[in-house]
Amino acid sequence: MVKSINVRRPDILPEVRAEVAKYRSDLVERIRANGNRLTLPGLEILLASAFGFCDGVQRAIEIAYAACHVFKGKRIWLIGEIIHNPDVNASLDSMGVLRLPWNIDGKGYEHLGPQDAVIIPAFGVSVELSHLLEQRGVQLIDSTCGNVIKVWQRVRSYAQRGITSIIHGKARHEESMATASHSRGEDHCGRFLIIYSQQDVNILSDYIVHGGDKAAFLKHFAGCHSPNFDPDTDLFEIGMANQTTMLKEETARFQHMLRESVCKRDGTDVHFHAFDTICGATQDRQQALFDLLDSEPDSMFIIGGYNSSNTSHLAQIAARRLPTYFVRDSACLPNLDYALAYQPETRREEATPLPPVAADMKSTWRVGVTAGASCPANIIEGVIRRIAELRGCAIA
Ligand code: SF4
Repeated sequence: MVKSINVRRPDILPEVRAEVAKYRSDLVERIRANGNRLTLPGLEILLASAFGFCDGVQRAIEIAYAACHVFKGKRIWLIGEIIHNPDVNASLDSMGVLRLPWNIDGKGYEHLGPQDAVIIPAFGVSVELSHLLEQRGVQLIDSTCGNVIKVWQRVRSYAQRGITSIIHGKARHEESMATASHSRGEDHCGRFLIIYSQQDVNILSDYIVHGGDKAAFLKHFAGCHSPNFDPDTDLFEIGMANQTTMLKEETARFQHMLRESVCKRDGTDVHFHAFDTICGATQDRQQALFDLLDSEPDSMFIIGGYNSSNTSHLAQIAARRLPTYFVRDSACLPNLDYALAYQPETRREEATPLPPVAADMKSTWRVGVTAGASCPANIIEGVIRRIAELRGCAIA
């Protein structure tokens, strides 16, 4: 674990909390107090019962702002993004916080020394990088979420017991990369394999049961496994863990499939271990969205950063049921014909037609709204106000 400086000091916190209050929204609080519903002429906004900032994100932002007070006048660096929200990161940029690339091995960190303060983001950093930062003697401010640390503890215990970690997550996501580094354990000999898609699980399950073409297996999982990974020996005893922000139902399905595969091979599941490491905030937001979808809105707006994993999963859930628009902020709503919405297939914001009811002023447009754990409430308010403005409704 990194040795970090506590910057959320009682003498600083009141000022920090006053600064980060800009991410709050009175309108959103009013809607929440009104049963998560805003009714206007010809427009109904249905807000999920759990949405927006989680405790981990709130804490990380406070830590970053507090660091700016404690280390005023010094060089303050942030590794990558504090959370996956463009507005919050841009705000830290404007406060003079400098950026370091998030990478495993600390390339580009050679110039750092004891005069530098370095903020570790909410997703954490790799073991290698935290060692390097300690060696360079920088002043570390660690905002890693406690839920991420729990996953690290789990995969380290797998490594200690000679169990290969199967990590359900995105191989290029900071949190999964950090978790993979922790799965190597104290002796750095632990093994891991990162899986993401149904296809990955099909291939892995098949190999567990039948073995097969080792070269083809390693080619498919290139960049997603520990060095010298050998599927013929390293899949004997496996333990699952997840990136904290995955889709709960998908992770449960993958766990079930892999357990079944081990059972088919061994006649018992003693060589299969699983621990649900999806965090409570992610689960609450997913469940709240399922509940909201049951009230059958006409359209769904999912608000958040496009590189936010938990927000992407909310968009994925909603898109299966109704027209869904994954938007960054109110600027994504130029008119009632289309929204500039993120498309995961092209990884771009694209003009996406709104349903006819949006521009039909004789009907009531029922709009569902939710936001990922890294999306500030003031951004949610902006989207709600823009929808109301386009429909000609005034909100006090
Ligand atoms: S989404 Fe979960 S893991 Fe990520 S910061 Fe929030 S509480 Fe922590």
